[in-house]
Amino acid sequence: MHAIRAPHVFDGTRFLTGGATVLLDGDRIVDVNSGPWDPPEGVEVTDYGGTILPGLIDCHTHLVADATFGGLERAGAMSDHEVESVITQSLTAHASAGVTTVRDLGDRGYLTLGFRERPGLPRVVAAGPPMTTPGGHCHFLGGVVEGDPGVAVAERAERGVDVVKVMASGGFATPGTDQLGAQFTSEELAAMVDHAHNAGLPIVAHAHSLLGIRNALAAGVDGIEHFTALTLDGPQIDDQLLEEMARRAIYVDLTMGNDRSLHALMPEPPPQFRALAARLGFTTFDEFYVSRISVLGRLRKHGVAVITGVDSGMGPPKRHGNVWRTVGEMVDGGYPVADALAAATSVAAEACGLGAETGRLVKGFSADLLLVDGDVSEDVSLLSKPREVLLRGEKVKAPKPD
Ligand SMILES: [Zn+2]
Repeated sequence: MHAIRAPHVFDGTRFLTGGATVLLDGDRIVDVNSGPWDPPEGVEVTDYGGTILPGLIDCHTHLVADATFGGLERAGAMSDHEVESVITQSLTAHASAGVTTVRDLGDRGYLTLGFRERPGLPRVVAAGPPMTTPGGHCHFLGGVVEGDPGVAVAERAERGVDVVKVMASGGFATPGTDQLGAQFTSEELAAMVDHAHNAGLPIVAHAHSLLGIRNALAAGVDGIEHFTALTLDGPQIDDQLLEEMARRAIYVDLTMGNDRSLHALMPEPPPQFRALAARLGFTTFDEFYVSRISVLGRLRKHGVAVITGVDSGMGPPKRHGNVWRTVGEMVDGGYPVADALAAATSVAAEACGLGAETGRLVKGFSADLLLVDGDVSEDVSLLSKPREVLLRGEKVKAPKPD
């Protein structure tokens, strides 16, 4: 057993007044004590002057993508061995950035399932290849559904996935798909939801279009990824939609966390996106991106459960390990620091089905800890420089300041 004492401790839901001592035994947290504390005999206490918090969670990653443009599509054509080497690099980058759990929502060949509990690497919650239509978004990952959608869900359940992912609209990473329209009818989506829930699996929908969001909601999904709500007249997120999301406790992941300094590197967007951007009054992708921060503020106002996913791996602005940036964006969007951190820890863990295992500094939970210098309650950008990362009680090698 050993203990770490710090003046600033965030336990997954709140900052503990006066700090706390976190007692660890192997891979478990065995006590968190915010009062004066005498360690049990023989327990070494390390005094640390900064902030202790649970390891962060990226709820939307593509471990098979290497954070270059087109990397996800290339993964569709790589050998298994090449893909596995990319997965290892992606997970190593996450761990170095203080991410101790990831939810992979776009796999190739179910290869990420073999990485769920690797020593020294973040735990992986895996969806396998996302379900999509023939020629639809990310079809190159091998998840095309032809025929009975229930069979596609059953295949995933048999493979042992932790969550099911469906593409309810087209996507920008797959030219020729309809980002404003729908993939699958609400009846087809409902059949997938029924089969997933009967197998005890949550199901989340990728949706850039308002139509895709509406279909996914009608079908009863557990979470919506991107939540862009595009229509021919631009994004349409009305209060009624937000109220329904809150009432039904559906998790929303806006997939932000971009390194905006790298937006200039983005390839020329396809003509359809340029036309849409012009109609919306945006001239650059960065302007559109910044407008999403005000959506965060509205989600907060309506009490919608927001979680932090980056869509990491999808290009240089979305490197693996960027989830700390989403916490900063939530603060910019009006969230108190503790609520933004909760979205990246305890709430994210619940959304990943791990609400009793990680995301909180509580007795019995996994010893997934992030240590950063300074007081994070005053400055969330401190999260960019992890001092130490513990994964199931083990120190991650060489956490690297950004
Ligand atoms: Zn994605």
